[in-house]
Amino acid sequence: MLSAFDPEDTIAATASPPGAGLRGLVRLSGPAAWRIALGGFKPENPGPPRRSPQVVAGVYRLPGLRPPLPASVALWPGPRTYTGQELAEIHAPGSPPLLALLLGHCLDRGARHAQPGEFTLRAFLSGRIDLTRAEAVLGVIDARNQGQLDAALEQLAGGLSTPITALRDRLLDLLAHLEANLDFVDEADVDPLARAELADELDDGAKTLDLLAGRLGSRDRSAGHPRVVLAGPPNAGKSRLFNALMRGEHAIVSARAGTTRDYLNGLCDCDGLVVELVDTAGVETPDDAVTAQAQKLRADETDRADLVLLCASADLDEPIATIQADDDRLLRVWNKSDLGSPPGDGDWLATSAAAGDGIAALRSAVARAIRGQHREGDLATTTSARCRDSLIQAAAALRDASATILDGGGDELVALDLRLGLDELGKVTGAIVTDDVLDRIFRRFCIGK
Ligand code: GDP
Ligand code: ZN
Repeated sequence: MLSAFDPEDTIAATASPPGAGLRGLVRLSGPAAWRIALGGFKPENPGPPRRSPQVVAGVYRLPGLRPPLPASVALWPGPRTYTGQELAEIHAPGSPPLLALLLGHCLDRGARHAQPGEFTLRAFLSGRIDLTRAEAVLGVIDARNQGQLDAALEQLAGGLSTPITALRDRLLDLLAHLEANLDFVDEADVDPLARAELADELDDGAKTLDLLAGRLGSRDRSAGHPRVVLAGPPNAGKSRLFNALMRGEHAIVSARAGTTRDYLNGLCDCDGLVVELVDTAGVETPDDAVTAQAQKLRADETDRADLVLLCASADLDEPIATIQADDDRLLRVWNKSDLGSPPGDGDWLATSAAAGDGIAALRSAVARAIRGQHREGDLATTTSARCRDSLIQAAAALRDASATILDGGGDELVALDLRLGLDELGKVTGAIVTDDVLDRIFRRFCIGK
């Protein structure tokens, strides 16, 4: 699959989100990147060609486009680039049809359209980045909130791979020593003090891994729970619904102060799926500035929501608020069903937060909606969970090795445990990597990354 992608191809893709931004770019990587990018391009200040990083301003003359198109081309010679290959970027106004035209121009001149994640795959294959960094790139792209973004950026900066690589190198040394001993030294000659030190060192290594696994774990906790946000007009009963859904059993984990209005959130169990439930503040104050800020806060919350529970109720003058959200991100809740039935049109889930009616059905509906929108690689199957698993296994292997040493076990057994631990660490940094893992990871990238 992915490993069959020929790195000798020059690949091209637009690298800005479709339809967004004032500037867009077409990125090229491969042996013909410069030649293709400079085809049809007239530099403002033509000069002798140089093999060094440079940005050239000029215009493109493209078939199908009458006026010359002003653009700049950034050029990097390989191999000290992100992909480890010759790289070019054509920067142009961010109009989608223009970028499509430029991309088409590159394809006509021999580039192949890049597969999702193929730029990063090349970076990985050329040894420019290891697997944890490749995943961090993915994390940055996928980040749904600041916490996830911070974690991904830290990982990108080597937060995980640096300590693991250092530990792995040290273990490789130890293994080499052990295996040398196996060949040349009689068991009886082995210095008992040195063995105790070795056991200590392995225990320390295991502790380091515990720590790293814990950091990945905390990232999972902040990243893993889908956000379900209660929205709707004031007095629809959002806060009371919030309490009914929380059942009072789950402690409220934080009451974060917005600048002026608070919102409450807590973890809530919906048919075995734990979601983060958020109660946005109603607009209840006459102060305009405060109102505006409250509305902004609520809009942010609903934007970031995986699911919005749009609450309405019969006793309000304007019971139904409108909200910007895709259908699969929206559940309509008709609260205070004890006061009146929902209108016949539209899909309403009837609840009474006061009487406790429909609350269990609402929980099930939330779980169904979230599970229904569950995308490949999202939520449960985060790659950090995979790394965490390997770190835990590696730590266990080091502890086994240490115990074997202290029990006076043979070096063969110690070496066996060390090798197991090294394999697990290798999976994290990508030194040992199967096509299956590669494919799972890189399939999730957007094209152009
Ligand atoms: P919010 O502004 O949307 O958070 O609404 P609240 O939760 O503060 O509720 C507004 C009012 O409606 C309060 O007096 C609640 O006691 C009442 N209320 C909430 N849910 C129900 C319900 O299911 N039935 C009835 N009869 N009253 C409710
Ligand atoms: Zn409220």
